[in-house]
Amino acid sequence: MRIPNLRIDRKLTTHVLEAPLAAPRRGVMLHYDDSSRDDWAVEWFTDPRCTNGYTWLVLDSGAVIELADPQMRTPHAGPCTTPYANSAYYGISAATNGLVPATIAQLESIAMICAALLHYHGWPADSLDERLVGHDAQAVWTSRYTPNRLLWGHTGRKVDPTGVRSDRQPIIDVAAMRNRLR
Ligand SMILES: [Zn+2]
Repeated sequence: MRIPNLRIDRKLTTHVLEAPLAAPRRGVMLHYDDSSRDDWAVEWFTDPRCTNGYTWLVLDSGAVIELADPQMRTPHAGPCTTPYANSAYYGISAATNGLVPATIAQLESIAMICAALLHYHGWPADSLDERLVGHDAQAVWTSRYTPNRLLWGHTGRKVDPTGVRSDRQPIIDVAAMRNRLR
């Protein structure tokens, strides 16, 4: 499937697992992939050991790599406050890590993808608070991830795309991205 007005620079044949949607799309989830170099980041998704995956990976240059068919779900979200989050949200990842903020070009391309998706689905701009989410705001602990039952069902399992910088500058500022799209 092709989303109108969504510019793709490269389509990659990957090991990203694709499966039919288990729930209708309701928004977009932002991530970073915890990579340190773009070429390694791209290589990972063609590695047979790769079990995670997004629909789009956005490189430092702003180049958009399509890793999976947008009409399929991919393992990008895991257990979240929203059920069937892998299906409910498209997954977009900036190729960066918890310390290096997304580049201007990366943010521009992410905004371009989000705008195309909003338009394609007819999602109104005033629904962006629920439509555009960060992985960290959604990902919850379960028994599969920790034996500590007190954490089960609570967020804190993921730190992307906000990151872990000591100056608290977000790697991707989700609120700023919503404002940009409004
Ligand atoms: Zn993530």
